Amino acid sequence: MNRIYLDHAATTPVHPKVTEAIVHVLNDCYGNPSSIHHDGRKAKVIIEEAREKIAHLLGREPAEVVFTSSATESINTVLKGLFFKNYPNQSVFRSTSVEHHATLHTLQYLENKNCDVVYEPVNTFGELANISNNNVDLNSFMLVNNETGAVLSKDIFEKLLGRKEKIHIDAVQALGKVPFNEFHQADYLSFSGHKIGAPKGVGFLLVKSGSDFEEFFHGGAQERNRRAGTEAVHHIAGLASAIEIILSEQAQHLSHVEQINRFVRNGLLGLGHDIVINSPNHGSPYILNFTFSQDEDEKIDGEAVLMALDGRGISVSNGSACSSGSFEPSHVLKAIGKSDYEAQATLRLSFSSSTTIKEVEIFLDEFDLVLKRMKSINF
Ligand code: PLP
Repeated sequence: MNRIYLDHAATTPVHPKVTEAIVHVLNDCYGNPSSIHHDGRKAKVIIEEAREKIAHLLGREPAEVVFTSSATESINTVLKGLFFKNYPNQSVFRSTSVEHHATLHTLQYLENKNCDVVYEPVNTFGELANISNNNVDLNSFMLVNNETGAVLSKDIFEKLLGRKEKIHIDAVQALGKVPFNEFHQADYLSFSGHKIGAPKGVGFLLVKSGSDFEEFFHGGAQERNRRAGTEAVHHIAGLASAIEIILSEQAQHLSHVEQINRFVRNGLLGLGHDIVINSPNHGSPYILNFTFSQDEDEKIDGEAVLMALDGRGISVSNGSACSSGSFEPSHVLKAIGKSDYEAQATLRLSFSSSTTIKEVEIFLDEFDLVLKRMKSINF
């Protein structure tokens, strides 16, 4: 049975051309890029060509690209790197309570070290409507929320630019999906490979020249002394290849995914299950989040819905993958005003260019059946 994968915001399959690029490097370019002999230089060339390609594709300078192991590492590097650069002076950061745990848990760690964090309020879709007048050292916001698909508005970003404070953007769910040229004026942008057809274990950071930070890893002089450790040459080659592929097809994929999103939205609302869509109309079409039971007396177990769909060959998420398994209600859903019951009665679908109308039709039918069955059992 062919499975239906509707969880692309958690991770994506590796693109076959990316696998090819990786296998080529693994087989033929095994030297240590810090070695000065032929094999080392060959590996170094792979890294520098990948850096140039990524910089060119994103309209940046090669020296602004820092390779990391993940977006979590990129985010930790920026937040802790600025905090420790300023240390022992107190730092003040601005963010929201709907950020990914990579940001939120880092902020909480820093708060224990006497960092002051201003959390700006968000609306019921997780969108930031305004920013307060507090002066801060760093603003850290996600461009696309990984649970609701809410997008950071250009107006807010303009306001942030006007404040002349440092800005970090978590652009993980935006790369190759929503255009974000305006946001390149941020001092730091964090990215991940495994959301765009590259493997897990590789990410990068764009750092505007002159925007220093205290390095997170200490060791060798790799990445211009900004990230010590022997580079994952094969992953870096795969990352560059994935970015090239996804950006070359972005516009065409966007209109396809918009069509899928509209189809599922209308389909869900037509099922008659009192469904509330938690994703804004003008958010990223790649993510669709909805609550399927508002009434605690219905006693619908969201985890059981997810597992029933899984048993029928459909993979979806009930929150961010990083927190599923912990059975805690999603911090994002709580922050946008959901009760514990509503939060567990919520699903997130996330699409890709390979998602078909046929697949989402099957999802709608199976979801309808599962929910009707659960309601009849509880009645
Ligand atoms: N930021 C966002 C918005 C994400 O969706 C994720 C992953 O789910 C991350 C950060 C962390 O990325 P990584 O898995 O590369 O550490």
